[in-house]
Amino acid sequence: MLLVGTPLAHQLHIIMRKLIYRFSPGKGEGRAEWKELLGGKGANLAEMANLGIPVPPGFTITTEACVDYLRQLAIPEGLFAGVRESIGWLESKTHKGFGSTENPLLVSVRSGARSSMPGMMDTVLNLGLNDRTVAALAAHSQSERFALDAYRRLLSMFADVVLGVERSIFDAPLDEARRTVARKRDLSIPSNDDALARLIPDTLLGAAELRAVVESYKDIIRAHAHQEFPADPYEQLEATIAAVFRSWNNPRAKLYRTMNGIPDDWGTAVNVQAMVFGNLGDTSATGVAFTRDPSSGERRFFGEWLPNAQGEDVVAGIRTPRPLARHPGDEGLSLEESMPENYAQLFAIQGKLEQRFRDMQDLEFTIEAGKLYLLQTRNGKRSARASVRIAVDMVAEGLLNEDEAILRVDPDRLQELLFPTIDPASSAVPLARGIGASPGAVTGRVVFSAEDAQVEAGKHEAVILVRAETSPEDLHGMKAAKGILTARGGATSHAAVVARGMGRPCVSGCSALQVDQVARSMTIYDADGAIIETIAQGATITIDGSTGNVYRGTVATVPADLGNEMGTLLKWTDRVRRLRVRANADTPAQAEKALAFGAEGIGLCRTEHMFFDAERIRAVREMILARDVVSRKRALDQLLPFQRTDFTAIFRVMQDHPVTIRLLDPPLHEFLPKEPEQIAELATALGMSVDDVERRIRELYEFNPMLGHRGVRLGVTFPDISEMQVRAILEAACSVQKEGMHVHPEIMIPLAFSAAELRVMRKIVDRIAHETFERLGCVVKFEFGTMIELPRAALLADQLAVEAEFFSFGTNDLTQTTLGLSRDDAGSFLPAYVEQHLLAEDPFVTLDTEGVGELLRIAVEKGRVARSEISLGVCGEHGGDPRSIEFFERLGLNYVSCSPFRVPVARVAAAQAALRRTKRYWR
Ligand code: ADP
Ligand code: MG
Ligand code: MG
Repeated sequence: MLLVGTPLAHQLHIIMRKLIYRFSPGKGEGRAEWKELLGGKGANLAEMANLGIPVPPGFTITTEACVDYLRQLAIPEGLFAGVRESIGWLESKTHKGFGSTENPLLVSVRSGARSSMPGMMDTVLNLGLNDRTVAALAAHSQSERFALDAYRRLLSMFADVVLGVERSIFDAPLDEARRTVARKRDLSIPSNDDALARLIPDTLLGAAELRAVVESYKDIIRAHAHQEFPADPYEQLEATIAAVFRSWNNPRAKLYRTMNGIPDDWGTAVNVQAMVFGNLGDTSATGVAFTRDPSSGERRFFGEWLPNAQGEDVVAGIRTPRPLARHPGDEGLSLEESMPENYAQLFAIQGKLEQRFRDMQDLEFTIEAGKLYLLQTRNGKRSARASVRIAVDMVAEGLLNEDEAILRVDPDRLQELLFPTIDPASSAVPLARGIGASPGAVTGRVVFSAEDAQVEAGKHEAVILVRAETSPEDLHGMKAAKGILTARGGATSHAAVVARGMGRPCVSGCSALQVDQVARSMTIYDADGAIIETIAQGATITIDGSTGNVYRGTVATVPADLGNEMGTLLKWTDRVRRLRVRANADTPAQAEKALAFGAEGIGLCRTEHMFFDAERIRAVREMILARDVVSRKRALDQLLPFQRTDFTAIFRVMQDHPVTIRLLDPPLHEFLPKEPEQIAELATALGMSVDDVERRIRELYEFNPMLGHRGVRLGVTFPDISEMQVRAILEAACSVQKEGMHVHPEIMIPLAFSAAELRVMRKIVDRIAHETFERLGCVVKFEFGTMIELPRAALLADQLAVEAEFFSFGTNDLTQTTLGLSRDDAGSFLPAYVEQHLLAEDPFVTLDTEGVGELLRIAVEKGRVARSEISLGVCGEHGGDPRSIEFFERLGLNYVSCSPFRVPVARVAAAQAALRRTKRYWR
């Protein structure tokens, strides 16, 4: 069959290519490692066969065959001939005949992609039945009802998967059969279908009812698919194989792939396997099992089973499944008690599978008339907590080494362990959903202003502050509240950023919510704009800052618990990682938290965050509104002791560790009041006229504050503000050093774009240092450096490095300025960009390595040329993002800095990045 015009090598590949791999206990042609070719299910079935585990025999059609089919929309040459041969082999293995009217062979046709896509694609069971073979099956099994039950399942699955008939159409005849049985038994018939199905489960349907169901199903197929159900088993099989190939492109599967980053061109394998029956009576059963508890990670064999049932019945939830092994609190007779021999065999197999796969397994099994079969095994999905416990336990058991254990956990999910979470056992339904902006679940009474938050919290009430959006004015209320909920703003809004810094759970951008400040209530709307509920001040709600869910009333939570295993794992990561991990912390309390989570310094201390305190904001405003140098100096003199006290406390907490303090960064108008009452209040307090205050506010107004009078520009125009801050830092450093502790202050200049600016600032810093050290009779070693958050600064990094002893990449601003994208305004179009693949992901969450990353690369290279010992770090949100950390590791940065709660995440991510970079491990 040489093809004219096709290269010989390609032809050889087509001819030689093996499209079918067989498996039966003792021998599988495939292996677990061949998931690309055989899909996860097929590869593991082959592996189980190789291990001598009893699997029903069968064969796997490769993913390559699927890819071919989808490309040409035609069955690959020779495939069906191979399928017929393999069915012949299966007949000899099972001593049954496909289409036989004596002892018919039935098969399942199961999809199975490379990485598991649970329930996303299609499976058809009981293939090979028709009006004649069903009679043979009835005779052979001595149960007509069993045979008919298998047949009606085939008819509906085939119609759905192959012929595209809506599955729900098949409910009516089944419900009718249930009603017939209910009438026979003199039971009153519930109007609700679910209740009916619970009253009369499938097992109570007799042969007579099922015969009627089968006939109705054939009618449905005739009416909706305009064809007869194909009686020929081979016709059934070939059509199903093609349909399973096509199911790779069904909308469900496509969406799942988009959400989980699975490429569209992998294709699915198809497994054709002899059927075994768990519904042949009381010595038959079916179930699912985990080799360890998927929620806690505890090493106990765990699962559910049903006697006299087929696979899907266990998950369908109509009959209550029973526990595998006896365990306190579980209901129903366990498999261990009911079928001790099968249980013992299953228990031995699960141990064998864990040893082979070196991971927790999720199993499907069926017992047919006292004989156990395994139908599937795969690495089980698990909670974050379980992933840590299992990885650490497996090292102790000798199954994994420490490096492998580190690579087993998903660092992004570790954060779940650091906060209380909604009790997984809770069935509460959320009222609305916003953005999970700061993790943790809390319950409290609703308040609608910062003042009310403070008052109610003062009465020892747990309160949740609800605002349309927050501003610096709300800070004291946010501090007093246990949680924050806003209607507007994204994951990087004021509410989100401040809440994360404070460690307060926060749901932001909950757009279903409308806040009525005056009435002190909020209204929740559904998607069509209808009111779901109005909640008044004082009512109790629960918010989950991890998922973004908002609930009415109290929802049970489970407390944060790092657990011993997490501590052990984190200790291992410290051995392998090269990147240091610092925290962004503005207060002594945050610094303590950061140290507790393992931070090795402070990478960003935002001095202005200390300005908002009620007693300080007045002095800050006085400083801003000052008309002349003298009155500004008076205000600055008031601020100095506050700042010094804060820095002293932070240095004491962080002793021996570096502390990077950024000089004032935001534009001054951010500190001024916006509401008329507050303006009036301020005017009175400062002895100014309201007009004067308003005029000054107008003068400070900016069209684009992000690119306005801020950062180093403030230092250039108001050097006395910088002088005060440097003096406060160094006086604090001297006093702590005098107490006998080590201090490592690093003074950081924000938003510089030139070496010239740094020279101006350096001069101020040096002068104040000289003067302060002289006055206090003390010298403290400190460093002077800059943030890199403008493209120009990155491009001219060699010049800046002449002045700066360290660079800290402010990747939030650098992303904004590189992409010309305002973080606070991007919410309206960024999702469309991600959806249309114009951006791989939100660049404010995961670094745009191509663009922003290129600037970093240039800055690192040039910075090191000018100053080989320069210290390089990152202090944007990306410092706590695992995929960005992988990039920072490859760039060879010295450290990342992130919010205290992300420090453990960053430690694990940095260790994984180091392990992957040394090429010993791949993703
Ligand atoms: P999914 O990937 O959705 O779990 P499966 O291919 O595993 O789909 O099959 C669906 C159900 O049918 C499972 O409960 C499985 O155990 C059962 N099943 C599949 N093949 C067979 C078979 N040959 N004999 C008995 N039950 C089977
Ligand atoms: Mg399955
Ligand atoms: Mg910045």
